[in-house]
Amino acid sequence: MNYIVLDLEWNQAADLQTKLEQELAFEIIEIGAVKLDRDRRKLDMFHELIRPQIFHKMNQVTGELIHLNMEQLEDSRTFVEVADDFIKWCGEDYIFCTWGNLDLLELQRNMDYYNMTHMSETPIRYYDVQKLFSIAFEDRKSRRTLEYAVDFLRLEKDTAFHRADADARYAAEVLVRIEDPKVFHNYSYDTYRLPKNRAEELHVLFDDYGKYISRAFPDKIAAMEDREVRSTKCPLCGESTRRRVAWFTNNGRHYYSVVYCNEHGLLKGKIRLRKSADNRIYVVKTLKQIGPEVLQDILMKRKHGREMRRERRHKPSL
Ligand SMILES: [Zn+2]
Repeated sequence: MNYIVLDLEWNQAADLQTKLEQELAFEIIEIGAVKLDRDRRKLDMFHELIRPQIFHKMNQVTGELIHLNMEQLEDSRTFVEVADDFIKWCGEDYIFCTWGNLDLLELQRNMDYYNMTHMSETPIRYYDVQKLFSIAFEDRKSRRTLEYAVDFLRLEKDTAFHRADADARYAAEVLVRIEDPKVFHNYSYDTYRLPKNRAEELHVLFDDYGKYISRAFPDKIAAMEDREVRSTKCPLCGESTRRRVAWFTNNGRHYYSVVYCNEHGLLKGKIRLRKSADNRIYVVKTLKQIGPEVLQDILMKRKHGREMRRERRHKPSL
């Protein structure tokens, strides 16, 4: 399997009026990618500018950031031509790698705008190199800029950042520097296209936690009533667990629970409610092994939420 390290640059409306008129918020104007083989040796490179069809003025911030002007783009091929060649160039057996989680979303959104064939009918498994960098070299949680990572690893900075070819190359070099094979267990999933039914829903097992990505529900209530959404079966062994803290939420978007598996001990459940591309609701749920101190944190969180709600109820309303 090859690695396709992808970077896109996009433009947006220069003024609010144009922005409101358009159904596509970000128009891709450059595709850069590096192809690495399974041993992460460089095989090939893809780079092309794109002639804009929607926004014919460069957004000022974008223009200054990426050092591109409209004249440079007007001689290029259109998105459909370039994207079509890019997908062919990717080949058959590959995994996308991007810095952060936006590029695959915008690529699919732009392809849909032009009614191109879908890259995938389900969520796309990929590597978020920004996340892998944090897991390999920092605290797993921080999200750094690409330039920070390049400085951190003392890689040579021979070209300016924020161009698709340069950023794809830098991201590929960061990827090459990750030595621990365990880091590569940390896949990400782009959810621009969600599972269409229960059978397609994703259940993924990582080193110490399980992740579930649901299909789309009409609303939050339907999502939270779903049996699979609320299920707290241990993802590590598949066995039923005993409840310690029932699902609760303080903000209506994130739900927490704690359960106990006879074999794997305490597990923390977290449900995130997210909006799908077509404005429905889907769920990303994780169940993760924890120590007793995290159980205390969760109990404090629930207590705090209850106190806040009690206070609000007793305040005179205006
Ligand atoms: Zn278990």
